[in-house]
This record gives sequence, C-alpha cells and structure tokens, in this order.
Amino acid sequence: MEIKLTGLTKVFTAKNLDNVIAVNDLDLTIPSGKLVGLLGPSGCGKSTTLYMIAGLLYPTKGRVVFGEEDVTELTPEKRGIGLVFQNYALYPHLTVKKNILFPLENMNLRGKAIDTAYQEAFKLLMPEEAKIYLTFKDTLENTQYRFKRLDSEAKATFNFGTALLLKQLKDTSTFKNILKDPQYKKRYAVLKSTYENSKKEFKQGYLKTLKTITPANILQIEKQLKTKLNSLYRSFLIKRWKVIIKLLFTFQWVSLKKKLQKEIQSFIPLAIVPIEKAKQVNYKLMMEKDAIAMAKLVGIEDQLQKTPAQLSGGQQQRVAIARALVKKPKVLLLDEPLSNLDARLRLQTREEIKRIQKETGITTIFVTHDQEEAMSISDEIVLMEKGIEQQKGAPQEVYNEPKNLFVAKFLGTPQLNIYKANKVGSDILVDNQVVFNHAKLAKEKDGEVVLGVRPEGYELNPKGNFQLQPSFVETIGRDVSLVSIHPSALTPNVRIILNSDDLSIQFNKPLSFDLKMHKTFIFDPHTGRRLA
Ligand code: ATP
Repeated sequence: MEIKLTGLTKVFTAKNLDNVIAVNDLDLTIPSGKLVGLLGPSGCGKSTTLYMIAGLLYPTKGRVVFGEEDVTELTPEKRGIGLVFQNYALYPHLTVKKNILFPLENMNLRGKAIDTAYQEAFKLLMPEEAKIYLTFKDTLENTQYRFKRLDSEAKATFNFGTALLLKQLKDTSTFKNILKDPQYKKRYAVLKSTYENSKKEFKQGYLKTLKTITPANILQIEKQLKTKLNSLYRSFLIKRWKVIIKLLFTFQWVSLKKKLQKEIQSFIPLAIVPIEKAKQVNYKLMMEKDAIAMAKLVGIEDQLQKTPAQLSGGQQQRVAIARALVKKPKVLLLDEPLSNLDARLRLQTREEIKRIQKETGITTIFVTHDQEEAMSISDEIVLMEKGIEQQKGAPQEVYNEPKNLFVAKFLGTPQLNIYKANKVGSDILVDNQVVFNHAKLAKEKDGEVVLGVRPEGYELNPKGNFQLQPSFVETIGRDVSLVSIHPSALTPNVRIILNSDDLSIQFNKPLSFDLKMHKTFIFDPHTGRRLA
C-alpha cells in the first residue's frame, strides 16, 4: 500500500505562546512494501508526521492518501494501521498471548463481521436507500472522530502551555505558584480560556457540520431498511421453526442435524446468507490462531505464557510488534521502537524488524533520530529538519550525494569535517592553498564557502596540499582515527579515518593529504546549499 502525503502541515496554536509549525507543507510518497526511515533531530516533526499518518492528529492542511483512498478524515481503526511506540505499552498483568490477543478482542470481530453482513443485506434489498444510509453513517463517524481529535489536541496544547509556564517558573515549579504570581496567573488564565473557547467552537462546528451531512429523510430511510430486513428475517425464522418441528416429529435423530442444515439452506434468503455465515464463525479460535501465527513470525512463540516483566526489552518490543500486526494492518508505523533497548538488543531487534517487514511485505514507516539505525534498516530515508523534508532517497545515495550541509552533517559517524574556505573560479582554497577543484564551481559566485570532507575522504600524500597536525590517534580495529585541530575548521576537532596499514607514518609532525573527490563537498555558507 503506497502512502502519499500532499502539502501536509501541522501548526500547534496557543494564544500567548508562539505558534509551532511542527510539519510544514510536506509532500512525500512512501512506496508500497518498503521500509522508510523518517529521520531527523529532536523536534523536527517526525512524530507529528507519523501521528497524522496514523490519524491520531488532524492536519492543519494537506491530505493523507493510502493507495487510492484519501484517509485524512478517517479514524485510525478505519485506516488499518499498526502502531508501535518506544515504550512497548504492553499490559503488565496480561500474558504475552493475551497481550497479542488484546487488540483482536477489543475489535469485536464478531460484531464487526455481522455489522458488515447487515450492510451487504441492506445493499441487496434496497440499493438506493442503502447507499444514502451507509454513506451518512460513515461520514457521521468520521466527523465525530474529527471533532474529538481536535478537542484532544486543544487539550494537549493547553497541557503543553501549562507545562511551559511551570518550566519558566523553574525551581518553584508547582501549580500553586502559577496562581500566586499575577503575571503567570494571567497567562494561565489566557491559556485556559483559549482551551475553553476552542471547545465551544468545536461543539458549534460539530453541530453545524452535522446539519450539512444529515439527509433530510434519514430517519425514514433507516426505518425502511430495517423494516424490510426484519420482515425478511421473520419469514425466514418462521420457516426455519416449521422445518425444525417437522423434522423433530420424523424421529430420525441420527441425521437430524445434517437434515436440518440442508433443508434450511434450501430456502435461506440471499440477503441473509452473509449474516448467518458471520454468526457461524468461531471467532475465538480464529483469533487464537492469528495470535499464535504472529508470535511465530516475531519469534516469541515459546514465551506465550510469560508476563512482560519476565521478558527482555527486545522480546517485549517483539510482542508489541506482534500486537500491532495481528490486526493485519495495511501500514506499520514504528515510533522510535528501539530507543529503550541497550546497544546489543537494539542491533538484534532492528535486524528482526527488517526481517519481519521483508516477510510480511507491509509498508512500514520507522521514526528515529539515530542516523545509523535509519541508514542500516531502511530501503529509503527521509531526512527532516524544522518540519521540512531535506532529502529523500536510498541511504547510501543520500550519504554520497547530500543536497545540503544539514544532510551532509547529519549522516555519518564520525561527522563530516567542515572548514571555512574560499572559492576562486573552480578552485577551493584553504589557507591560500588550492585543496580541491571542481568544474561545476566555475558558474557559482566567488567568495567564502564551506568545505566538507568525510572522515574517510583524506588520502595521505607527502605532496598533498591539505595539511593537518594530529593531536592524538585512536586505533579502532582495522582503522585508525586521527584527531586533529585545524585553524580553518568550523568545529573544535577534525577526525580522519585511515587504514591501519598507514600506521607506519609519523604522527608527531604535520601530515599532508589529498582530498578524495567523491568524499568532498562544497556548500554555500549562508543557505547550506551544495555547490559541488
Ligand atoms: P522527538 O524525537 O523529540 O519526539 P520529533 O521530531 O518527533 O521530536 P515532534 O514531536 O513531531 O518532533 O514535534 C515537533 C514540534 O512540535 C516540536 O517543536 C514540539 O515541541 C511541537 N509540539 C508537538 N506537540 C505539540 C503540542 N501538543 N502543542 C504544541 N507544540 C507541540
């Protein structure tokens, strides 16, 4: 299932606080069946984007489309999403099996299946009326949810504002102190009245919308549909009882059940067939089977009787994934799912997530601030900053060809080394020495630029023009890392990764390097745009 976001925007508003544009006009296509990493520093809008896709937040502007269907107005349940959070959110008193079963039990599968069958029956009996009635019911549900969502968002903003006031009060941060201080008391009052006013506004908005979506004759249509189905059911039940009584009197006990079923089948009205079928299904057994299949998929089938406290963090997160997948969602959304795990488990669990995603082929969005995690797990990464998409592509492609300084600096450990440099024609000069040349630069304006070099982008060459004095050397397996200071560097330290075969060299005097072409980037110092 492809996910398409168009012009997606989320602004959090509070009267005496600044508006926060958490997500700004985001256009994004997430290809079907892929695992996409949504990456960026804290506060860049990753989670807000994810929650808008999930339907937990309502966008200020823009649309969310799954496949061909615009789901912006739909409830999370109707979107068919599976959500996994950082803190697993498992029920501590329930066994693993019950935890996985929980969403299915909560879904009232039997009720839903029968409800769908009733809708089918209505469509068969009175197609025109059914269309009006079912469209109305659907719109009503979406509208109710939309206003509920707005209301809970307004509440979240109120809580957010209150927390901010408390934070500003610093160490005397208790709620009573807000009310003691006249200035804070006033600001709190504004926050509160803003919240209350928006609640009123939402209520009025809901009532107004309700009027516009309700067909004038809806009650009449509902009555017609129900009466028609009821009369059909009544005649069917009467016939059924007649058959049962007739067969009871024949005294053919052995084959009675089979005979009954056969006779009843012969006159069951078409519209009622799906309803009767839905009633026959053993939902409990079906749910158990699904839960066990999911436990197997995530590799915890031998832990089903344990409680979450008896599992490792990695296993708990697998239970959370099984629980999200058991509803057979079309889209899996993971919000920092590995943050609570130690380094070893994080590595193991991320490989597991990759395997599960490949096996199920489910379109997955993985939110993280950890670039290494996103790079290793994702088919594609989307890098965000201040609510805006900076770059999207295969991890290696984005690493090799960053569009701007932010992207180049965000990806890679150790970080990109950056230096103040000058551009003259197609040459880049550091301390009046030409250290790099690119034909593409000729068409850009001469002057100050930022030179970025990946730690692995230096090649030892006694005749090289780029000089550095190493401060100390760290050996990291087969590589060595030179830590240096450089007068033109824009960071306190510069790190260079060299192959340990080069260890024979003397580190106590300045070293000369050539800069590798494909590991060196030039940026505009004001906009951060990559020039070459
Ligand atoms: P993190 O990794 O820290 O969760 P993030 O990239 O997921 O960061 P978001 O949680 O999406 O970022 O937040 C984006 C911005 O929106 C932040 O500046 C945040 O403070 C702000 N924000 C989020 N929720 C609210 C809210 N209910 N009211 C006001 N501002 C909010």
